[in-house]
Amino acid sequence: MSISPHIHKPLIPWPESDFPELPEVRRLALYGSTGSIGTSTLDIVRSSPQNFKVTALFAGSNVGLLAEQCREFRPEVIGIADSTKIPELRKKLGECASEVEILGDDDSITAYASEGTYDIQVAAIVGFSGLASVYNALCSGRVVALANKESIVAAGHILKEVLQEREACGTILPLDSEHSALFQALRGYSRDDVQSLILTASGGPFLNTATEQMANICPEQALKHPRWSMGRKISIDSATMMNKAFELIETYWLFGFSEQNIEVLIHPQSIVHSQVQFRDGACLAQLSPPDMRVQIAFGINFPRTRISANFPTLDYTQPYTLEFLPLDNEKFEAVSLARECLRSGGNASLVLNLANDIAVQAFLDEKLRFQQIVPFAKEALSRHYHSQALNFNDTLEFKEHLSAELESKLVCP
Ligand code: NDP
Ligand code: MG
Repeated sequence: MSISPHIHKPLIPWPESDFPELPEVRRLALYGSTGSIGTSTLDIVRSSPQNFKVTALFAGSNVGLLAEQCREFRPEVIGIADSTKIPELRKKLGECASEVEILGDDDSITAYASEGTYDIQVAAIVGFSGLASVYNALCSGRVVALANKESIVAAGHILKEVLQEREACGTILPLDSEHSALFQALRGYSRDDVQSLILTASGGPFLNTATEQMANICPEQALKHPRWSMGRKISIDSATMMNKAFELIETYWLFGFSEQNIEVLIHPQSIVHSQVQFRDGACLAQLSPPDMRVQIAFGINFPRTRISANFPTLDYTQPYTLEFLPLDNEKFEAVSLARECLRSGGNASLVLNLANDIAVQAFLDEKLRFQQIVPFAKEALSRHYHSQALNFNDTLEFKEHLSAELESKLVCP
């Protein structure tokens, strides 16, 4: 493969000299604390209190777990997006309620991202809802440890503009396992050394299912990922391979390589988390068990040395087989759609992201078949694409308008 021109400067700290000084004990604001990434992050804090302190915890509606986390980690601020749950949250907090500030809606949680006292935002809200807090944090020069890939898929050009053109001194650290793997493999190398970035994909639960047998897949089957334990939305995205589509777009923005220099490879074991192909023929990969705590710990501790944690390691007393297979683009069309979105620019990735958010929820609510999810997004792209990229406020407005329109199109299967 020939090297095509690099498109833009990376959004991550590569080279590393740009990274801001942070205190010895880093104060974390955890957005999406009750989810899969959120609880994994808290495991790291639990095992490394000398490195991290939680100062804020935010969730959508799970007041039971949020109250429990608050009692254990004693943050200064907590918040729940569903404000109707505040009385229940206070009740569950008991005496602890008087020791913590409670924020009671989306707007104040989002405002904390720019105004709050913290060093790193862990962005682990699921879906488009994560965008505003990521945007606010970057606008006010914060470090964002990014799991919420939907924000960069929906608004990569906006985040780039904030970081590079407005020269806000904010930084993004990748937490997604593939992007963390690339980030780790690239350390010490310059972009001219690199030929391509190779994203690995497990292939999800239907890698070996014939297309004809995929007509009646139910949510329970699609949620059963063979390797990873994750939230519901990303589990469905992995089953359709939309997750890899989003990760391709995420790679483009985070690392600044052209779409032709980003490859996708199926690796069913999920041990090699991604690879960098260098120009001299060498390839560097990052290997670890499928446990996000490895990548989260690397991200929130960057650029310090690795923390010592008792997370599971690869067990080489057992034989290992690592397979790598080409992606079947006909069976899993989502990755090709992502490439098209990057080539088209404008609002394409935003439409792909919004339509997928709606289609996945509709599938989980049994209003759409599994095999309709990707075509639904494709159809939305063909109808709602326009070549002009939107600014932040117009993006929020467009989301309201498009979501209402797409939801009205859903018909029961
Ligand atoms: P989960 O569904 O497990 O968790 C989502 C979290 O977001 C929950 O804490 C939820 O709260 C919270 N939340 C939802 N809406 C809001 C809101 N409006 N305001 C505040 N909090 C809100 O998802 P995951 O942890 O699996 O994924 C989170 C993000 O990380 C996704 O973007 C995903 O793509 C990405 N990611 C996840 C990986 C994984 O292994 N899980 C790997 C790589 C990336 P509540 O519980 O109250 O609903
Ligand atoms: Mg990933």
